[in-house]
Amino acid sequence: MTITTPPESALAVGVTVTLTGEEFACAACGVVTDAAHVESVTVNTFSRDGRLAEQHVARFGRCAGCRERRQRAETLAHRYPSLAAAQGARQVALDRFDAVLAVGEMLGAPVRVDDAATGFVSAVASAKELSALLQHALVPAMSLAYSRQPEGREGTANAAPWGHVTPEHRSEARRALAAWLKARVDKPRFIPVPTDSDILGCAACGVGSVAALASESAEAWHSLDLDPRAFGGRRQAERLWVHVCPRCTSAIETHGVGVTALEAALFAHLGIRVVPGSVEARVTGFAALPLGTPANDTPWGHIDTAALKRDLASMGAGA
Ligand SMILES: [Zn+2]
Ligand SMILES: [Zn+2]
Repeated sequence: MTITTPPESALAVGVTVTLTGEEFACAACGVVTDAAHVESVTVNTFSRDGRLAEQHVARFGRCAGCRERRQRAETLAHRYPSLAAAQGARQVALDRFDAVLAVGEMLGAPVRVDDAATGFVSAVASAKELSALLQHALVPAMSLAYSRQPEGREGTANAAPWGHVTPEHRSEARRALAAWLKARVDKPRFIPVPTDSDILGCAACGVGSVAALASESAEAWHSLDLDPRAFGGRRQAERLWVHVCPRCTSAIETHGVGVTALEAALFAHLGIRVVPGSVEARVTGFAALPLGTPANDTPWGHIDTAALKRDLASMGAGA
């Protein structure tokens, strides 16, 4: 997943402006604001060994965009009260929700929280999604604010929003947000056998769809030009363009295209320990069935597995 942000130069990274007495830097993004929304922020200065060296109260503003984001944080706290309570004090919850939302803004990929947000890639529409966003993005988020920068921020402001954020911090935030987005969209789903297939299921086990992550759906099925006789077909038949499910594909990768691979996949499915090819099991693949046979609901539905197990037991094979 790629998050596209404007070129670094367009963000005026690192360019600061000096403030007059009537101006304040936005506590979050650092741009110049007027005195209408001034707030006092406790600024902690840390020594090189990480200890708190100094603490003082400084005055910052809050720009319109960052005030709007604060509203979204309030909306989230109101909508997901138990998740907000789990953060501790209400102020802490608001700060955290605000901070993770700010990661999206800083990267030019704002996170939506409105009721209509369901289905948007970059949106929070459930407590679970918010919880995942916190989990992924809270660490880079909490040190993002202009007022949290180590030193020399009073009396100056950013020429552009978030201009104080270093390239390293920006990359870390981008990775965190990308991981969250990927986790959101990467839910397993059922991928049906591709429609260009000559048959309606996996050429071996016959299933009609397989569960795969969205990001892997293109590789869920393995394509094959198959002589059906290789899978137990008896008639002389045309070669078929078929697809094979992931489990049967791995059996084919080990044993090659043939009945031994079918046995390996079937025995694995049944949990039977038999060396493939060591018994006369007469397993046929789905591709050997008449064309137009509907796909199996479960793998190997076209095989009488109970009879097969009895046969194997009578041969003294299997477990
Ligand atoms: Zn701002
Ligand atoms: Zn299969």
